[in-house]
Amino acid sequence: ATAQDPYDVVVIGGGPGGYIAAIKAAQLGFKTACVEKRGSLGGTCLNVGCIPSKAMLNNSHIYHQTTHDLKSRGIDVTDVKLNLPNMLKAKDKSVKALTGGVEFLLKKNKVDYIKGAASFASPTSIDVALLDGGKTQIETKNTIIATGSEVTPFPGIEIDEKQIVSSTGALDLQEVPKKMVVIGAGVIGLELGSVWSRLGAEVEVVEFLGAIGGAGMDGEVAKNFQKILTKQGIKFNLNTKVLGAAKKDGKVHLDVEGAKNGKKSTIEADVVLVAIGRRPYTEGLNLDKIGVEVDNRGRIVIDSQFNTSVKGVKCIGDVTFGPMLAHKAEDEGVAAVEYIQTGYGHVNYACIPSVVYTHPEVAWVGKTEEDCKAEGIEYNVGNFPMAANSRAKTNDDATGFVKVLSEKNTDKILGAHIVASAAGDMIHEAAVALEYGASAEDVARTCHAHPTVSEAVKEAFLMASTGKALNA
Ligand code: FAD
Ligand code: NAD
Repeated sequence: ATAQDPYDVVVIGGGPGGYIAAIKAAQLGFKTACVEKRGSLGGTCLNVGCIPSKAMLNNSHIYHQTTHDLKSRGIDVTDVKLNLPNMLKAKDKSVKALTGGVEFLLKKNKVDYIKGAASFASPTSIDVALLDGGKTQIETKNTIIATGSEVTPFPGIEIDEKQIVSSTGALDLQEVPKKMVVIGAGVIGLELGSVWSRLGAEVEVVEFLGAIGGAGMDGEVAKNFQKILTKQGIKFNLNTKVLGAAKKDGKVHLDVEGAKNGKKSTIEADVVLVAIGRRPYTEGLNLDKIGVEVDNRGRIVIDSQFNTSVKGVKCIGDVTFGPMLAHKAEDEGVAAVEYIQTGYGHVNYACIPSVVYTHPEVAWVGKTEEDCKAEGIEYNVGNFPMAANSRAKTNDDATGFVKVLSEKNTDKILGAHIVASAAGDMIHEAAVALEYGASAEDVARTCHAHPTVSEAVKEAFLMASTGKALNA
């Protein structure tokens, strides 16, 4: 044990949930430490998730646009070549800049960054196996567990990160595979499938369910999105079960079976990406020892104030309930710390945006049509095609639409669903409106600059509130 005073707050995990919680705690005047065992801050998101995937999505899009789309824009280019090693370097550079930035922020806010693996000795003392060797024990009044998640393994299909990869290996392939098979048409499968498809791979996706997009995507949006990706060259096998995989002659043979018709077949691939979800990560924390309750899916159980079953120990982010999203983890980090200080905090789970960063992007917030039907809510739909938006049309980038839902009797906004190249940015207008309890008419009457893609959002809300859009 050390002779130092106990910390007010120790955060275990330096991902988006953990590092934001630590900064907020320090800003509120708490003596704070953040323990991270990876050797770099930013967690899954900055090291092997959001950031490297967006670097590859952006640069593969530029490459694909250069080879497929520039001619019609009056730009002739010759000798365009993919330099994959340099594209991977650009990705690594963005990761390094951002993880280094987080380390600077911890320092600036006077958070002690302890490099090592934390495990509970008691609810108020934490053992840390230091990365540099040796051990230390720190005392704390409050702990926030933010240990995140890991790839869900596929039983019987071993990930080697070369031929059979998780998202981590798929972000670092040293060659463009001739043929890539993706297991799971969720966000990771669609984003990383798009990356390698744009770089020249033949991509085929196998999905157990009857729709793409993973949980939460509006049904009509998922159908349209699938059409768009199919047109881009990605092949989908929905309602298909993967039975197993075998490596043979440098290839992977994937045995699949129709979930409905039982038809069996084998798909050959150079690389298989396993993207069937992520699961909470609590290894080495010693939760049993202090009695922190975990549910049957491995999630740490919390109440509405982020308290675990042990007093003084809170939990946020991927390792507990809710969508596994960086911004959800961050907002929980802030709220958990505010609870410690004031007894109040707030995350509105009905208003967390989701974005798939393909081209076009798909973004949504609030309820889907399926939600409204299941809950018996009567609703209006406002729909506006991007092809009728002057800016999108001018940019020759007009694939997609804006679809909004509002309550029939009150005009109150229920949800928004956007397919558009800038959907991930456009969705926040709807998110703010939803958070403030606005009506569709409120947004429709708000002056929007012309020509912008956001006018499509205004038009969709106008249609929801009056039944008619102006430009379509
Ligand atoms: P994590 O980011 O997983 O961080 C947990 C940290 O805790 C890790 O660094 C781990 O090393 C550390 N840790 C664990 N145990 C210990 C211990 N005992 N002691 C010390 N440290 C420990 N989300 C989005 O919102 N947008 C995206 O675009 C997006 N893209 C993604 C792309 C990919 C390929 C993947 C895999 C994920 C993506 N996500 C995205 C999800 C996002 O990465 C997670 O939701 C987010 O990182 C969760 O944050 P967290 O802080 O809860 O956990
Ligand atoms: P996911 O849950 O989004 O999708 C997994 C997909 O795999 C689902 O469609 C599921 O039906 C399918 N599946 C499951 N078991 C299967 C099987 N045996 N055979 C065939 N298909 C099967 O998970 P993911 O894509 O792995 O992503 C993991 C997490 O990371 C998600 O929670 C996601 O929110 C997060 N993430 C977010 C972003 C983003 O916000 N842009 C990007 C990447 C990852």
